[in-house]
Amino acid sequence: MMFVYADNAATTRIAPQVLDAMLPYLKEEYGNPSTLYKLGREAKIAIEKAREQVAQVIGAKAEEIFFTGSGTEADNMALKGVLYGPAGKGKKHLITTKIEHHAVLHTAMALEKEGFQVTFLDVDKNGRVDLEELKQAITPDTALVSIMAANNEVGTIQPIEEIGKICREKGVLFHTDGVQAFGHMPLDVNKMNIDLLSLSAHKINGPKGSGALYIRRGLGLRPVIEGGGQERNRRSGTENVAGIVGLGQAAQLAMETMEEESARLKALSQKLIDGVLQIPETILTGDPENRLPGACSFAISAIEGESLVLYLDMEGICTSTGSACSTGSLDPSHVLMAIGLSHEVSHGSLRVSLGRFNTEEEVDYIIETLPKVVEKLRSMSPVWNRK
Ligand code: PLP
Repeated sequence: MMFVYADNAATTRIAPQVLDAMLPYLKEEYGNPSTLYKLGREAKIAIEKAREQVAQVIGAKAEEIFFTGSGTEADNMALKGVLYGPAGKGKKHLITTKIEHHAVLHTAMALEKEGFQVTFLDVDKNGRVDLEELKQAITPDTALVSIMAANNEVGTIQPIEEIGKICREKGVLFHTDGVQAFGHMPLDVNKMNIDLLSLSAHKINGPKGSGALYIRRGLGLRPVIEGGGQERNRRSGTENVAGIVGLGQAAQLAMETMEEESARLKALSQKLIDGVLQIPETILTGDPENRLPGACSFAISAIEGESLVLYLDMEGICTSTGSACSTGSLDPSHVLMAIGLSHEVSHGSLRVSLGRFNTEEEVDYIIETLPKVVEKLRSMSPVWNRK
């Protein structure tokens, strides 16, 4: 039996060159970057190299990159940092969308409980925000707009450049959660008028627990983590040197291979999508055009996404679902609800996300295996058998 890891939107396998770059900092190069002697200074140099590598991918300056412990932390730092800090100018209104990752959504809800006002924009059936609605939502009290670059469940890419333009014209700050997009599609903070951008190493073949926030030069954010003043007082805590080096290396690898990898993944995804859509009563979810190159998401009627994931696991295939069971509540994921899928349809949601190490042979195996698994589950499904 083959083993196929097809859940790259959840996390990715570390690339060998990334691991090789990290290892010295877990072994002999163990100095604290804040110290004065050579061992510490070398760790500091490694961090600064990584800052440069990350900055290059998004057209930023190295000093605008601040390392964090995750993408989640970067999102918290952006939203809370602006609204509590001088950059927010005391304004109390935040605009975001209904399909954000919980790192943004739950932070926004927490801010709402504290007395900030939050607008959660709707999206259309493909998962895209309406630019007119965004314009209407901006008021003189709006401090920040936070809209993700690409969605983690359905892969939809937002019109980031247009959103940036609107925010700039209206004089509000623009944060984008770029955790899924960074390294997978071109992002340019200047061309797109992005003021803050969150990213994470483990979605680009880097290590888990290592992220960063791009902060446009001159913006005053209140730190979320106080302490010894590392990361120029923006994020205290002794740096995760190996994690940061891994992020830098992964960012460089992603940038160098983006064009060819995205073309390869697009072709593989198309093959997978065409194959899966042969299964009767199956739809593609998310935007058919504006989607991440490796993102394939479906709703397959009359079966449970969770059973599907477990049966596919028995065939050696790792995938995920936003169906009700897996989200631990009676409701399917907030993203599937926001794009207007009925409870019934979203029960059969399946996300197959391809990445750097997937091959055509693996895609063939998925296309061959999935219909059999669906057939088996449907044969046991009272909903299907009633048809
Ligand atoms: N934002 C998006 C869009 C994500 O997909 C994820 C991870 O799944 C995060 C934020 C959180 O990143 P991390 O896992 O590094 O905390």
